[in-house]
Amino acid sequence: MNSSNQHRRDQFGFCFDNSYSKLPQALFARANPKQFKNPSLVIFNQQLAQTLGLDTHALKAADWACFKGRAAPEGALPIAQAYAGHQFGGFNNLGDGRAILLGEHIAPSYLRFDIQLKGSGPTPYSRSGDGLAGLGPMLREYLKSEAMHALGVSTTRSLAVMLTGEVVYRAEPLSGAVLTRVAASHIRVGTFQYAAAIDDIGTLKALADYTINRHYPALDNHPQPYIGLLEAVIDTQAALIAKWMQFGFIHGVMNTDNMSIAGETIDYGPCAFLNTYSPKTVFSSIDKNGRYAFGNQPKMGEWNLTRFAESLLPLLAESQEDAIGIATECLNAYQTKYRAYWLSAMRKKIGLFNDEPGDLALVEDLLMLMYKHQADYTNTFRNLASPLQLRDQLIDDGGFKNWQILRHERLSRQVQTVGEVAVLMDSHNPLVIPRNHIVEEVLDSANQGDMEPFHDFLEVLITPYQMPKNDKYLQGASAGFDASYQTFCGT
Ligand code: AMP
Ligand code: MG
Repeated sequence: MNSSNQHRRDQFGFCFDNSYSKLPQALFARANPKQFKNPSLVIFNQQLAQTLGLDTHALKAADWACFKGRAAPEGALPIAQAYAGHQFGGFNNLGDGRAILLGEHIAPSYLRFDIQLKGSGPTPYSRSGDGLAGLGPMLREYLKSEAMHALGVSTTRSLAVMLTGEVVYRAEPLSGAVLTRVAASHIRVGTFQYAAAIDDIGTLKALADYTINRHYPALDNHPQPYIGLLEAVIDTQAALIAKWMQFGFIHGVMNTDNMSIAGETIDYGPCAFLNTYSPKTVFSSIDKNGRYAFGNQPKMGEWNLTRFAESLLPLLAESQEDAIGIATECLNAYQTKYRAYWLSAMRKKIGLFNDEPGDLALVEDLLMLMYKHQADYTNTFRNLASPLQLRDQLIDDGGFKNWQILRHERLSRQVQTVGEVAVLMDSHNPLVIPRNHIVEEVLDSANQGDMEPFHDFLEVLITPYQMPKNDKYLQGASAGFDASYQTFCGT
């Protein structure tokens, strides 16, 4: 979106514009963040604040009032966004039940960012929910989203977490907290589903035009911009999910309301990273049938994009039949795009610079061997060149010995040196990921008031390709950990 500089920066560097609230009324509702009596700041992201052009000294001098919900930044116009969504396959009307969009901040780069408070009290879409969030889930999102960003995965970011000073009642009482989330936008597949469901073509068209203008401005010159939008979102999601698969990330709740049109990873509820490689891995306590299992994610991405295409049908062609034909053709490209993004990344993970027809089989054979021997996904790739560090069962397998021979032959057919191969692999295979057992450990300490382990871990996670000072961050989970590990939606 054209981010003009007509908007004034306040004393903290905030520069709000509220373009979303100029869209048709059905798409949002005014909502004010709750004024908590005794808020306190837990963590603040200095580096992100700098990127956004915020003045951290001024914010500190003002006691971080806006992050404590005490005063909305000048020019902010808080709203809750309406959306719908398929949750585990069933359609529901939703909306921001525990999040409030303060508005869009224009950074000095002229990039536009949504600044959203998560856990800041009820909104018109809260239904029976309290609109609140606990400290653990908000710190979990902070940690995971910043780790994903450092890995090079497109994601919403986390600017701050504050304690509200109030108790939130869940299965057990939790310390209430608010996360300040920063995103390219919060427009979701579910936002389009909502606009389509209210059966008002004007609203749907306004949303589509807005989205094109904000996220895919090059489509302005496209002969058929709505078809272009569908193609662009399919492409962005294929690229995003390929990244998740590359790093062993399991989103856990890929409902259509949790799929961002801008292609960012959004909503870190029950997400987790793979330890031992298995496509069947599920950690979420509510995902009983493995709908969002690790290996199912590419397919579920396509399912969600099909819902997106359905929402756009009235804009794609005059007749429904023609529109369905166009949508089907666009969707047919998804699998090919996804496979290409994925294979391109996996090639780099095993040190390949160029393409050969046998590469897919080479990658798949390694994954089969990792599955057979329950090898650690992250560490196996990272240590491929130093087999002594691999799992004994894997290196003793004749199939793996043969695989190594084939890989060496393959490497010898490319011009790059051993050193160049090592650099390529080391920059695509992280040493450190947010291991589930360490995430739980640091969140436990944080819940007891000790943030030091959290800060320590975060520092390591934001440089995931560098050797950490402490070996413990390199270790996979202990045997049996995965079998009993469960994650929960952060409600
Ligand atoms: P999520 O599982 O975080 O994607 O949330 C799904 C839907 O439930 C969204 O519409 C949320 O706004 C809503 N929701 C989740 N937690 C709460 C809560 N504590 N109060 C009100 N609404 C909530
Ligand atoms: Mg959500």
